[in-house]
Amino acid sequence: MTQYTPMIQQYLQVKASHEDAFLFFRLGDFYEMFFDDALNASRILEITLTSRDGGSNGRIPMCGVPYHSAPGYIKRLVTEGHKVAICEQVEDPKQAKGVVKREVVQIITPGTVMDDQLLSDRDNNYIGALAIDGNSYALVVADLSTGEAKAYLRNGESATMMADLSRHRVREAVLDRATYESWKERIHSSNEFAASSEERDSVPDMFAEHVGLLGHPLQKKAAGRLFQYLKHTQKRSLSHMRKVVPQSDSVLMKLDAFSKRNLELVETNRTKGKKGSLLWLLDKTMTSMGARKLKQWLEEPLYVRNEIQARLDMVEALYSKFFEREEIRAKLREVYDMERLAAKSAFGNASPRDLLQLKVSLQNVPSIKEQLLQLGCAGSEKLFSQMDAHEGLAEYLENAIHINAPLLLKDGSIIKEGFSKELDEYRDASTNGKEWIAALEQKEREKTGIRSLKIGYNKIFGYFIEITRANLAGVPEDRYERKQTLSNAERFVTPELKEKERLILEAEDKMADLEHRLFLEIREHVKRFVPGLQELAGCLAELDVMQSFASVSEERRFVKPVISIRGIVDIVNGRHPVVEKVMDAQEYVSNDIRLTDGNSMLLITGPNMAGKSTYMRQLALTAIMMQVGCFVPADSAELPLFDQIFTRIGAADDLVGGQSTFMVEMLETNYAIRHATKNSLILLDEIGRGTSTYDGMALAHSIIEHIHDQIGAKTLFSTHYHELTVLTDTLPQLKNVHVSAVEEAGKLVFLHKIVDGHADQSFGIQVAELAELPSPLIQRAKHILHDLENEGKHSSPAVREVAASIDVPESQLSLFETPVKEVSPKQHKNEAVISMIQSLNLLEMTPLDAMNKLFELQKKIR
Ligand code: ADP
Ligand code: MG
Repeated sequence: MTQYTPMIQQYLQVKASHEDAFLFFRLGDFYEMFFDDALNASRILEITLTSRDGGSNGRIPMCGVPYHSAPGYIKRLVTEGHKVAICEQVEDPKQAKGVVKREVVQIITPGTVMDDQLLSDRDNNYIGALAIDGNSYALVVADLSTGEAKAYLRNGESATMMADLSRHRVREAVLDRATYESWKERIHSSNEFAASSEERDSVPDMFAEHVGLLGHPLQKKAAGRLFQYLKHTQKRSLSHMRKVVPQSDSVLMKLDAFSKRNLELVETNRTKGKKGSLLWLLDKTMTSMGARKLKQWLEEPLYVRNEIQARLDMVEALYSKFFEREEIRAKLREVYDMERLAAKSAFGNASPRDLLQLKVSLQNVPSIKEQLLQLGCAGSEKLFSQMDAHEGLAEYLENAIHINAPLLLKDGSIIKEGFSKELDEYRDASTNGKEWIAALEQKEREKTGIRSLKIGYNKIFGYFIEITRANLAGVPEDRYERKQTLSNAERFVTPELKEKERLILEAEDKMADLEHRLFLEIREHVKRFVPGLQELAGCLAELDVMQSFASVSEERRFVKPVISIRGIVDIVNGRHPVVEKVMDAQEYVSNDIRLTDGNSMLLITGPNMAGKSTYMRQLALTAIMMQVGCFVPADSAELPLFDQIFTRIGAADDLVGGQSTFMVEMLETNYAIRHATKNSLILLDEIGRGTSTYDGMALAHSIIEHIHDQIGAKTLFSTHYHELTVLTDTLPQLKNVHVSAVEEAGKLVFLHKIVDGHADQSFGIQVAELAELPSPLIQRAKHILHDLENEGKHSSPAVREVAASIDVPESQLSLFETPVKEVSPKQHKNEAVISMIQSLNLLEMTPLDAMNKLFELQKKIR
């Protein structure tokens, strides 16, 4: 250490305790970084790497960013998952003996950002802390920018815990040191969230009350870890943090990560964007608080009858009372993000503009409450009585903050006249002084007879009288003192101007100081209302979500669903709300879904592209919409409450994750089978597609039997194995339905209508024809199918039927130009293999698929 300069020694000391963060080391008007931080930051931030004399062992790498533009750079680092420790000078450099004292005043991490620039309005920014005890773990998820915090208690191994963290969309996970060390590589490579270690897990005194609702010691530990971390990174008041609310899984519909992804609840699989998701469809919220609440609700649908019913009733009231709803929407439009405004007030970074927005928001609350009274349902009455408009605070802010208050504190003109007598006096002195000066200008013009004489001001010389060169002869040399010479004018002062200037500047100085002090007092005053404001914000957010539900329901002709006590699904003319919206509504074919106690499973057959997957998703989305409290896309709908929804839908390969379709399929199926109950909904779409035919069919068969005999969950099972349709003979709960399609003039037409009974044709070759595969190939396929059918050993009646329905021309045009008649059985087999290889679409196959195929082909030739 001794070879370094004293300042670098100081830097190294601070850096030693912040190894995992970029240390922004304040030097005058810059934040500087040194050593590895400098090398890395210059690369990430694309700023010039320089060097600095570090002491006797030469120059050290350095790079820096100007103090005033630091937020932009911090944003970039934090967005990329890094942490930034802000190290400020904490004593006046003029007073310092030796190196100026410096301290880290805040650590900004992905999960603790408070800056508007770093936050997205319509999304929460979550941080999660874990406490682990064997196979049990507690997870506390909090949003520092809003003050919310929830606690969960669950069982599971590390993979489950990590999945849980990503399911909650945390930006940062806080872990004990050992867990941090063992997970850090995996977390880093998955790149979903940042990880931090915090060994302390006792609840800091200042947060003792915050954990009052938590019953389980493990939950307290997780909360303790979180609060320790917040306390040590933020180093300031966190009084806006709310009590940690324990979440019981029994009141929520469970949705695993697979299903959330498959159903595209808040983002689509393909683009990872909101557009095309259920959230996108349902979001007509007017406030950011509402938008965030809606997303929360969609991520955690309810499994409590009363609460769902109350939401549905409230949505109904808003739905039917159009004018009240429009009024509420109009008022909500004027409400700013009160939740974050309250948090910022407490955190100490609310700007004058923020308090102005808080005031405007509060002023809209009384008329919102008035509309609530008109709605006349239990939910609206409850919200009405929970909502405290804080009229006193609104009035206080009305009187305190100037209507054109600036964005920044340093810009002044924040406080309204009449709020502080002292401030008004300084302001008077300043304005009077300025008027006096204006009058002086007039007076001096008259005295000297110089009409172009003017009084000006600049920062260096203060007030001056300026006289152009041409008029210098008229200057009263006895009274005017020369101050500055310009190319075409001279500037003068007089003793009385000097004296007035002193008074004006003094007043302005005091004014700025006083304004600053008053503003901090006002913010301190607001701070006392933070819990109440948060409560109010919560009510407004809920109302906003429900008006959004009502508005969408009206626009998209949704109906109020009935929660089934009999446990049946009876949906008449149901629709997939998102598919319906993105296509012309005229073209969407609605479908009924009926599942009863005696008939709880449907086996869905039909050609590719007919609408099987859409039909299955439709049911899941309808159930979720009901369980968040929204109307549903149908003419009428009765549904039971589902405790969980499991899905295995579509062929969304997790290629990036390196898992084959078939493996993903089996993982998801396994998860469903192990966790489903009689009250669950299971959607299995074309299970077994990813493996060889017989494997796949056998698996599908036994999975259906297992669900039928062991679980009894409501299940939709789609399949392209027509062989399975005979299962309805032995499984009483199972019913065959199929999506109808017809051949018109040799072309296939999808009707998208679900009808009873099994499909008698798979139309695979016709679909291939629609996809415009080369016509010799199609002809060849028809021929092979025909042969397969004649072999007849394995094909089902359905396959035979299809084969029979396809007319194979007498003289085939062979792909290999060998006349069909002259082919020996062995040659024929080889040819079939060649044509199969030719028809493989390698780009669409996983390695496992390819292995399976190869195995099949080899078997054929042997
Ligand atoms: P499958 O799973 O049977 O292969 P999908 O459910 O993926 O078929 O549907 C294929 C396409 O058909 C969808 O993308 C959609 O455009 C259209 N479609 C599905 N169901 C309907 C419907 N009920 N009405 C109109 N179009 C539909
Ligand atoms: Mg499908």
